[in-house]
Amino acid sequence: MKHLYRTLIWPEVCERAEQGAVIVIPIAAIEQHGYHLPIDVDNVLVEHVTEEAARRSEGLVLTAPMIHYGFNEHNMGFPGTITIRETVFMDFVYDVAHSMVRQGFDRIVLINGHGSNQMLCNLVARRIVNTTKALCTAAAHWWLSKPAVDRLRESKFPGGMAHACEFETAMYMHIRPELVEADKIGGREAPSSMSEFIYDDLFGSGPVNFVNRWSRISESGVEGDPNLATPEKGREFAECSIENLIRFCREFRAMTVPDERDYNYKNPKL
Ligand SMILES: [Zn+2]
Repeated sequence: MKHLYRTLIWPEVCERAEQGAVIVIPIAAIEQHGYHLPIDVDNVLVEHVTEEAARRSEGLVLTAPMIHYGFNEHNMGFPGTITIRETVFMDFVYDVAHSMVRQGFDRIVLINGHGSNQMLCNLVARRIVNTTKALCTAAAHWWLSKPAVDRLRESKFPGGMAHACEFETAMYMHIRPELVEADKIGGREAPSSMSEFIYDDLFGSGPVNFVNRWSRISESGVEGDPNLATPEKGREFAECSIENLIRFCREFRAMTVPDERDYNYKNPKL
């Protein structure tokens, strides 16, 4: 059974909606990833996880074409970065997801590969839930790999896994090893550890939210410790994300949706 939305012929779209396929929308960014990784890291990682999950899901998951660009103003000091204004990004992602709902799909999963997109993806998912009868959720792919990260992580927390770091470098080494310029990996950089309250890590940030403009605080563009990356770790991280995404989509499909209630006073004049 086809697993990529873009390969369907239109009557097949209708059939898959009727069969209750779960739509996964991969969302990423084009941005600098230090001296050693290409600017497409977020795209490559999220595409691998979402397309593999769909391929192995026996018809349950349909992965939509990727949304390549993300909210990235903070990174514009580094060449290669493309940014989409936050409101434009949200409206765009909403319109893609909402188009799926209009075709009859009632389970939509936004899988994100770029940290600064996450809060916006969360809001888009809520907007779909608040404006349609479909259910929509949002997650970053690295959260789905947490069991493998807990087992294999060597970089210190917080700060070792944030950007072009042990995690992202390992994943890219696994998926596109020929494009990793390992000889250009520099030392560990943890630019946001400026306060005990402000720090960044893929697996938990500090209690105070603050995202500085990146070129003020990073020299290489890296945040974390890419020296600790290996392709074997990358494979384990990726496999864990893929398995958990399939498991979540099964649960999500089976989730029942109780009727909404309205306890408000019904004013006859309104
Ligand atoms: Zn990245």
